[in-house]
Amino acid sequence: MEDKLKTLLFESAACRAQLIRLDKTWQKILSHNEYPAAVTRLLGELVAASALLSASLKFEGSLVLQIHGDGPVKLLVAECNSQLGLRATVKLVENSVVEDNISYQELLNAHGKGRFVLVLDPSNRLPGQQPYQGIVSLAGNSVADSLEDYMRSSEQLETRLQLYSNNQTVSGVLLQQMPLDGGHGVKNHDVDGWGRLNMLTQTLKSEEALSADLDTIANRLFWEEKPIVLSERESHFHCTCSRKKVEKMLFSLGKTEIDDALNEQENIHVHCDFCNSSYIFTKPQCEKLFARDEELDPIDPDLDHAMEDPLKDLSRDGKPPTLH
Ligand SMILES: [Zn+2]
Repeated sequence: MEDKLKTLLFESAACRAQLIRLDKTWQKILSHNEYPAAVTRLLGELVAASALLSASLKFEGSLVLQIHGDGPVKLLVAECNSQLGLRATVKLVENSVVEDNISYQELLNAHGKGRFVLVLDPSNRLPGQQPYQGIVSLAGNSVADSLEDYMRSSEQLETRLQLYSNNQTVSGVLLQQMPLDGGHGVKNHDVDGWGRLNMLTQTLKSEEALSADLDTIANRLFWEEKPIVLSERESHFHCTCSRKKVEKMLFSLGKTEIDDALNEQENIHVHCDFCNSSYIFTKPQCEKLFARDEELDPIDPDLDHAMEDPLKDLSRDGKPPTLH
């Protein structure tokens, strides 16, 4: 079954729905690591959410959902770019035991210090310009609860988000009201539309969402509403790591730190947690790196996500891009 994202428009209700189902992409993400069942489920929901939210990006670039956990999960990252290229990874606290029925709050926010961040990173960002970072409150009992809350408060529009995941498939629906210019923008505005569509969306349950294909789900939920299919796009696994980016990262660590590391080991090994690639730098290669005349650009935030200390304190940069 192909991995795709479908966008439906309900014109008179002024609502839009995105539906996603991923099999191959999700299995590729999971093939790089093994996680406890509860963590796999959670990562799957985050992956589905990143794809659903990135479908509304108005710029070329990527959307990253990042949870710095305060519980057995140390870090959870899902990233989707505007071509629906996805990657994701998890870091667990060493030797942590994760029960199957552990709650969302226990996994991520055991002492109230968990942090959920949404990053919008345009690819044509100017040097020195930071990506936009929004803080999502770790409210509720699921990724969907937290993000619904964020979307409602940041965009002031009704939002319904449902996410499903097991170790084979992830799927989800995002239903959103569209901005109305004081109600003048829509012909014959169906004011009850949102309520009806919201109720229909809620009839989707985990079993159906993880077994039926996307068209079947879309038809079953919304056939009476006669939506317009705005788009159908395929998604795929995509990692942005490269030797060039690792070079920049090593350069930004500085010569002293690299020399110290090389005193203890023969080569520098950098591992990408997203795709399992290994980058090896020998001593002469490191020396060459620092012997260059020109300065390399500072570390790319893309790579930041894969490193131990993944996120600098990014500041808000002007008006945030919208997601509707
Ligand atoms: Zn990679």
